[in-house]
Amino acid sequence: MCLHLSILLNNSLPVFSSEQLLDSLKHYFGYSSFRVGQEAVIQGVLQGRDSLVLMPTGGGKSLCYQLPATLLPGITIVVSPLIALMKDQVDGLTRQGISAAFVNSSQDANEVEKIFRGLANGEIKLLYVAPERLKSHYFLEGLADLPISLFAIDEAHCISQWGHDFRPAYTQLNRLKLHFPHVPVMALTATADVTTRKDILSQLQLGDPLIHLDSFDRPNIRYTLAEKYNGEQQLLGYIRKRGDESGIVYCNSRWQVEKLAKKLAQAGINCAPYHAGLEVEIRNAVQDGFTRDNIQLVIATVAFGLGINKSNIRYVIHFEPPRTLESYYQEIGRAGRDGLPAEALFLYDDKDVERIKKRISDGENEQRVHVELQRFQAMTGFVDAQTCRRQVVLNYFAEYTEQACGNCDICLDPPSQFNALEEAQKVLSCVYRIQQQGDIQHVIEVLRGESSAKVKKLAHDKVSTFGLGRDKTPGYWFAIVRQLIHLGFLQQDIARHSALCLTQASRSVLTGSDPLMLASPRLQKASYWQRKDKEQPYDRALFAKLRALRKEIADVEDIAPFIVFNDATLSELARKQPVSSNEMLMVSGIGDTKLARYGGPFLELIQQHKA
Ligand code: ADP
Ligand code: ZN
Repeated sequence: MCLHLSILLNNSLPVFSSEQLLDSLKHYFGYSSFRVGQEAVIQGVLQGRDSLVLMPTGGGKSLCYQLPATLLPGITIVVSPLIALMKDQVDGLTRQGISAAFVNSSQDANEVEKIFRGLANGEIKLLYVAPERLKSHYFLEGLADLPISLFAIDEAHCISQWGHDFRPAYTQLNRLKLHFPHVPVMALTATADVTTRKDILSQLQLGDPLIHLDSFDRPNIRYTLAEKYNGEQQLLGYIRKRGDESGIVYCNSRWQVEKLAKKLAQAGINCAPYHAGLEVEIRNAVQDGFTRDNIQLVIATVAFGLGINKSNIRYVIHFEPPRTLESYYQEIGRAGRDGLPAEALFLYDDKDVERIKKRISDGENEQRVHVELQRFQAMTGFVDAQTCRRQVVLNYFAEYTEQACGNCDICLDPPSQFNALEEAQKVLSCVYRIQQQGDIQHVIEVLRGESSAKVKKLAHDKVSTFGLGRDKTPGYWFAIVRQLIHLGFLQQDIARHSALCLTQASRSVLTGSDPLMLASPRLQKASYWQRKDKEQPYDRALFAKLRALRKEIADVEDIAPFIVFNDATLSELARKQPVSSNEMLMVSGIGDTKLARYGGPFLELIQQHKA
């Protein structure tokens, strides 16, 4: 230890070659190459430099300090705002053969003392602490006696008072450089905005830092927007299609969350609500159940956020529009952290937009109202976009790109126009035949020949337009009707339960023969809801078996399943179907310790499956 200390003070740290770094990467983490930026950051730390690492969620930030922790002579201290996540992190590291521990308020003095002994005798290489701890003089003194090689500040944006995740205790971290002037500090965040970035640099007093700024794009997340015409049914249909995959549905109010959760549960979906109005114990239980794949779907408000580090969330649905593009981006960012294909589905409805605008406008502070309306406008701009969605978002975050992404609904199914005269005539004459007595839903039912109770009661199954539009889906008709309203060929009579009625302009369409150009309804295709991913094929039956085995092991060890192996590793196992330890080591995410620990049962299962 003395030798290590003197190396640190001499400022002549050992130099590691790329091969050595790759060896450690394979040995501990089971990966065979670095992601963009990781190696440069790691080399920087190993040279003793301060650094600021900006990578999107799922970009691989943790590895930037976890790998150096295995190579540096002393201890790496990780400051993390989320006590709930520390256990997962430590569980994961231990299973990769890296000795780690955490100190938080759940432990008593004896336990903490034991950990400090482990740190002093070199048994523990990585220590996770909450920022509040570093305020304590006692704790800082304890650290001062130890050979500290690196401070990693995770979620570093929590230091910024302007950000949404401000944590007062983070501001205390400006004292780190005072107490440990020679120990490098690495700040990590996924927050894009420039003010926050500057705040981090100045408050942590990073000296000549290496700044790694990654693209904020998450190419594996597909953006899909769809008109919401029958929200709950659309939601249910989508969730059913995704089978037992994990997902989140975001709503704006607790009320909506509870309502949806109840409906979906009644329909047999394994789901739970999450919002700030629930008891802490319940919230924790939901989060834990979700992490462990016991709960498939969480219906939540924004309260379900920071701290979800589950890597296999396959979809995030917005049932209502968020107020800013920033929050939207954060929320969808929780999907696909393992890099596998994931989808962000946004069900939008003009009515929701109007309601939110009104609510913002009702605010008391005029200036605030103005700012919030502007931010919401960026959100609706995204919804209305006729060009690549990803470009809209990235441009908003000042990451300009000329290339359309090929993985959003616009790219996959470009908007087009068609002569909709015939369709429009069907709708308008239907409204006329039922004597303007029904709202959108009702008119569509009549058009599609659905004898609902109300249709029968009003004898609308007897009108000549009944069933005239049977060949098209409700979503198709909804898109047509909505455009006819926008163009002034129909009106919704608010005083009569939004019944559709004809306008002056309707006549020209009903009796005319000029083409009427409308946007082709894109829901009709709906094919982008299905997987058209570039994903490599794998044996799905084997994947299901591997998944069950993973869950079994995780339950016995009382850890989250993705800590055993994440979905990317499981699907590669199902594809390559290794039959020996050596072949198993070639699979991404399987290092030496994990092979020794879990290799046996998984190999056995694969052999059985192949036999
Ligand atoms: P975040 O940047 O959000 O903290 P993580 O550190 O959790 O992201 O990494 C996301 C996922 O990517 C994890 O499953 C991690 O193991 C994986 N990962 C990180 N680096 C690599 C790499 N070089 N090769 C393959 N997978 C990696
Ligand atoms: Zn696109």
